[in-house]
Amino acid sequence: MYDITAIRNDFPILGREVYKRPLVYLDNGATTQKPRQVVDAMVDEYYNVNANVHRGVHFLSQQATDLHEQSRETVRRFINAQSTSEIIFTRGTTESINLLAFSFGEAFVKAGDEILVTEMEHHSNIVPWQMLCERKGAVLKVVPISDDGTLRMDEYRRLLSDRTRLVCCTHVSNVLGTVNPVKEIVEIAHSNGTLVLIDGAQSTPHFAVDMQDLDCDFFAFSGHKIYAPTGVGVLYGKEEWLDKLPPYQGGGEMIQKVTFEHTTYNALPYKFEAGTPDYVATHALAAALDYVSSLGMDNIFAHEQDLTRYALEQLSQIEGMRIFGPMDGRDAVISFLVGDIHHLDMGTLLDRLGIAVRTGHHCADPLMSRLGITGTVRASFGLYNTREEVDALVAGVERVRGMF
Ligand code: PMP
Repeated sequence: MYDITAIRNDFPILGREVYKRPLVYLDNGATTQKPRQVVDAMVDEYYNVNANVHRGVHFLSQQATDLHEQSRETVRRFINAQSTSEIIFTRGTTESINLLAFSFGEAFVKAGDEILVTEMEHHSNIVPWQMLCERKGAVLKVVPISDDGTLRMDEYRRLLSDRTRLVCCTHVSNVLGTVNPVKEIVEIAHSNGTLVLIDGAQSTPHFAVDMQDLDCDFFAFSGHKIYAPTGVGVLYGKEEWLDKLPPYQGGGEMIQKVTFEHTTYNALPYKFEAGTPDYVATHALAAALDYVSSLGMDNIFAHEQDLTRYALEQLSQIEGMRIFGPMDGRDAVISFLVGDIHHLDMGTLLDRLGIAVRTGHHCADPLMSRLGITGTVRASFGLYNTREEVDALVAGVERVRGMF
């Protein structure tokens, strides 16, 4: 039973008003709101436990360490990784990808090698690879998309070569909502001897992911998009590969023994976690994962799919409506434009009606160029959104259209 009223009550912010209107929060692709369970976990830790982790013999430090390490186990279970050694805490998807680009690049990328990305990537899954290619004299190759916003799998197969070291692909497009066939992408890459990074920023909040089933080599996601605090995220990597990669940053925690002549590094995952981690945020991330797990990822998926289908149906009836991305097999993200109304005007006027959407390029400039536009209006749904909120969006868009 998906009790939307009870769920909404867990998120105090959803009860507030903006411009004297009830808030309709449809910017979940950018960040999600936080339930009491998550904020309470943070408050409880700061009020009752707070101490630096790993280094202390005293009670609080051990308790904080236990919470932090239990959180790693919660993440492992949530994404069905084989071992907690494969769960590296980072600041978010962006840092996870930068970590990998540096470490993987140091270990495995030489001049003339190729990194394969797709045309629908977020800047954070393009720029770190571009920087790596510049450092190493490697080549960035791009898998194009079709006009319907799906990946050109024929081109993907064609572009994979014996120089391709890594395929970097988003699980779900933050603009088009396209759910990429990542399992197939991994199988094809592996049969070419190539490793795969999946950007899970937009998938983990919406449906269950399973590392052992996907068989990807690396996977990144952000806490704040899955109802956890900002500033915490995860890089998953198969132990076999993480073991072969050099550290990303140096400092405390990541070492075994330091002398001025030579330093040896800590075991996984600590080798990649220099400095004091945000142990309060990792604890709160676990609280968020427990929260969505208690609702059931399959129930969240069904609820959001219903909203998405309903919104697509309703929005497509608006005159001049142009929806980007596939109509089927899409996640809870809808990017659109209406007639020649500028996305910023639409977003600003919707805001005045209390409706929070995102406008602009969504950190996907190359995709905007491919679509021949400068930006879109994007509505993205979370587990607490309702059909009434979709109705408010549709009425709002109609109203704005009437003004132009
Ligand atoms: N990848 C995708 C697909 C995203 O949607 C985002 C966030 N918009 C990111 C990466 C970057 O995530 P973060 O800013 O949390 O590091």
